[in-house]
Amino acid sequence: MIYLDYQATTPLAPESRDAMLRWLDGPEGVGFGNPHSPHRYGRQAAAAVELARDQVAALFPPGGQVIFTGSATEALNIVMRGCQPVLAGRGIAVSAIEHAAVWDTARSMANAFHAIPVDDAGLIASDAPIPADVGLVAVMQVNNEIGTIQPVAEIARAAKAGGALFLCDAVQAAGRMPVAMADCIAISAHKLHGPKGIGALWFRDGIELAPLITGGGQEKGLRSGTLSPALCAGFGAAAKLAVERTEPDGQHVEALWTRALELFDGWTINGSPTARWHGNLNLRRTGLDVARLMSEVRDVAFSAGSACASGSGKPSRVLQAIGLNDKDVKTSIRLGFGRYTGMQDLESAAAAINAAARAQG
Ligand code: PLP
Repeated sequence: MIYLDYQATTPLAPESRDAMLRWLDGPEGVGFGNPHSPHRYGRQAAAAVELARDQVAALFPPGGQVIFTGSATEALNIVMRGCQPVLAGRGIAVSAIEHAAVWDTARSMANAFHAIPVDDAGLIASDAPIPADVGLVAVMQVNNEIGTIQPVAEIARAAKAGGALFLCDAVQAAGRMPVAMADCIAISAHKLHGPKGIGALWFRDGIELAPLITGGGQEKGLRSGTLSPALCAGFGAAAKLAVERTEPDGQHVEALWTRALELFDGWTINGSPTARWHGNLNLRRTGLDVARLMSEVRDVAFSAGSACASGSGKPSRVLQAIGLNDKDVKTSIRLGFGRYTGMQDLESAAAAINAAARAQG
């Protein structure tokens, strides 16, 4: 089986796995300690959590604090719902291609909702007007479906000029490129070769958020609940590796991308080919029956759209936002590759996908 679905999740790094095992078994069996306990078991676990926090913090800009959450979805919800006192009834503006964690959350809130449009390349205009009544702007750095990279720094400046808080979903960017400056930033361990079930929220010093989950007051009172030292350690090790490997991983992805463009000659790329993370290849082909393709190419794991939306039967909101009609949306596939993808894997997968697609006529 060849795995080409790096936007859905990434293979666990062996270094991350090893770091976790230490806190499941641990030397002398102390790995199970509660990091919030004052005795030796607890202090050792707390030290592991704090080391992991420093390792994860290295992914973010200076001048802020990191708390661990159960996922990026939770981190995004903490900001969007927890900033209500700051919003004071003002509206929320989000890009038209945000992940459901932001889009559906904003839609479910009582505040006025504004969608910031993207062009047919999947990019927000850097001078996109932000409505006057908006108190929170949320724009992702890298899109999970089409990989486009937004001009986040400019949008952050516009949000600030309008007196709005700026939230960036950096889930698909973190560990691959420097994370953009924002007031609040959410990331997820499993998108950077860490474990599932843990995310992080970074917020700039001075930002005030109200907790969604109350209880023992952990994570600066913002996210009560006992942390898992194993998940934190796994996240920390994955983050450390990502920082060390940003350059070689990036070069590897560029080589895969260049070869993929040759291999998928005759397909059309959805979204900008340049302002894009090159580990994301979202393609369409006239007349393609994607469900049939996926059932015929069983040895390659890839996606028919966003993994989060797949199975819903709904056409992709992101592909619609870049102007594709329903027919073109349905002929699109997403291939995602990265650190552990071999060139041979890509070539074999492309051969299988192309053969099945051509056989459809
Ligand atoms: N934001 C983006 C861009 C994503 O790709 C995802 C996951 O697919 C999420 C948010 C949600 O992350 P998590 O799985 O940690 O909740």
